[in-house]
Amino acid sequence: MSSTVSPIRRLVAYGRVHRRRVWAASIFSIANKIFDLAPPLLIGMAVDVVVERENSLLAGLGVVEAGDQLIVLSALTVLVWLVESALEYAHKVGWRNLAQRIQHELRVDTYAHVQELEMAWFDDRSTGGLLAVLSDDVNQLERFLDVGANELIQVATTVLVIGGLFFALAPEVAWMAVLPMPFILWGSVHFQRLLEPRYAEVRAQVGSLNAQLANNLGGMATIQSFTSEPLERVRFGESSQAYWEANRRAIALASAFSPLIRMVIVVGFTATLLFGGKMALAGRLAVGAYAVMVFMTQRLLWPLTKLGETADLYMRAMASTTRILDLLDTPVGIVGGGDPVGKVRGELRLEGIDFSYGQAPVLDGLDLEIRPRETTAIVGATGSGKTTLVKLLLRFYDPDAGRVTLDGVDLRSFDLRSLRRNIGLVSQDVFLFHGTLRENITYGKPDANPAEIEAAARNAEAWEFICALPQGLDTVVGERGKKLSGGQRQRVSIARALLKDPPVLILDEATSSVDNDTEAAIQRSLERIKVGRTTVVIAHRLSTVRRADWIHVIDQGRVVESGRHDELVAGDGVYARLWSVQTGEVVADVG
Ligand code: ADP
Repeated sequence: MSSTVSPIRRLVAYGRVHRRRVWAASIFSIANKIFDLAPPLLIGMAVDVVVERENSLLAGLGVVEAGDQLIVLSALTVLVWLVESALEYAHKVGWRNLAQRIQHELRVDTYAHVQELEMAWFDDRSTGGLLAVLSDDVNQLERFLDVGANELIQVATTVLVIGGLFFALAPEVAWMAVLPMPFILWGSVHFQRLLEPRYAEVRAQVGSLNAQLANNLGGMATIQSFTSEPLERVRFGESSQAYWEANRRAIALASAFSPLIRMVIVVGFTATLLFGGKMALAGRLAVGAYAVMVFMTQRLLWPLTKLGETADLYMRAMASTTRILDLLDTPVGIVGGGDPVGKVRGELRLEGIDFSYGQAPVLDGLDLEIRPRETTAIVGATGSGKTTLVKLLLRFYDPDAGRVTLDGVDLRSFDLRSLRRNIGLVSQDVFLFHGTLRENITYGKPDANPAEIEAAARNAEAWEFICALPQGLDTVVGERGKKLSGGQRQRVSIARALLKDPPVLILDEATSSVDNDTEAAIQRSLERIKVGRTTVVIAHRLSTVRRADWIHVIDQGRVVESGRHDELVAGDGVYARLWSVQTGEVVADVG
């Protein structure tokens, strides 16, 4: 979604808590510019002193002797330079710190907001694209605040101060110096409009480049095992080239600005030189004033050329701001109710559930009961919707129709965090964080004591292998836990879920990708950990679930069979067929 309010307004609204800092920095910028414009004036006064001597401007102020006037002028010069330097320091520190502060706040706020968003939202986005917003876009804004804001303020100050001075000194000539300004400003604005789509293109390209990079680095093992490096090299090269070309198109236009504007400036400069000179010759303009005007025309018009660059920075920053603030304003699709989950009995029900990810229905009028403190298995072919069901239990998604209840209460009325704290999830796709085993195991309960950690690890059959490691619990697992074997990772993830001691535990294909030893270990572990809690086991392999209290078979989006293992095997339904195929009791034709 995109707001109709302009990005700068949105940014001002976001940063309004810092308005004092913005004012302070702006005042330093203005004052610094005023002092920076003083030297040409001092030159004019120096010319005035040597030409007019006892009749000079300074003489009129009481310093009669020309030598004394020069001393006063020198003292004034030193003072001006000192103050200018101090102010430069002040405005730089002011703007830079403000830029850092806003950058930090935006980054953290946006990240915190993204964390609240629902899984369906993430499904439609790439990690790389989000990274580009959270890092590049935030940095882009910082660059503008760092230098661009000051630049704009100082150009405006220059125009006002010098313009005013010119009209005071020689109104007849002043308009010649001022004449090019509308053209320069019009040119800047026009340029911005032309540049805007080109920068949008640059941003889009960097987003897709990042997305590809994140994707490929994550899937490096797959790339290497399929020896598709040359293909990926080409694809990555193409993305990078597209980014480069988008930049080239932007550069081609952006670089033309200064040379074009210079042509306009030369008109104003030459006119001042010529007509001001004529006036000075005719004695209608003081020599000192003429000198000031010639120097000042330069000082007036040149900074305007920088407007192109600043406009450039501004456009990029605003494009980035739009993306960041859009992200920050993304409405949260799944919001918790107000009720905390109290003491949980652990009865879960899915009633009349319809669900789809947007296209074909995945669950279609599904009814299912998960009894408290029993072990319920859910089986079915791959793609039948078992994992989807788990996602509904955790409210990663909400059903399109029907409701899910915990102890008879609709999940939607519970506080989301409170609900999720009561559910432990062990999934097939284990995600460990880069850190030590201890940090990973205590992820859901950072204050766990050593005895609790050991008990959880023992119950998950992980303690033995952890003790065998030279660094034990302090072993660093690597990114995503890549330094552990699949079975070890799985056991760590079970220990992590157990330490939370949740009343509801869900094992989603927890044993499907592990070796037989690990499976046996996890089975043993399951016998211990299911006691006293509602356990949901999702499995493809039926041997894993045969001891479950209840087994539900899902097919075509609904439950087609329910019962105990023996009952189901005795029947001639889907389960019985799957069982005979998997145990080899019937030689099935499974290509
Ligand atoms: P199972 O766990 O039984 O193998 P899933 O619940 O993972 O099945 O998937 C059920 C169906 O939903 C599949 O057809 C799958 O392709 C689809 N699906 C799963 N996740 C998504 C998603 N995030 N976006 C779109 N379709 C999805």
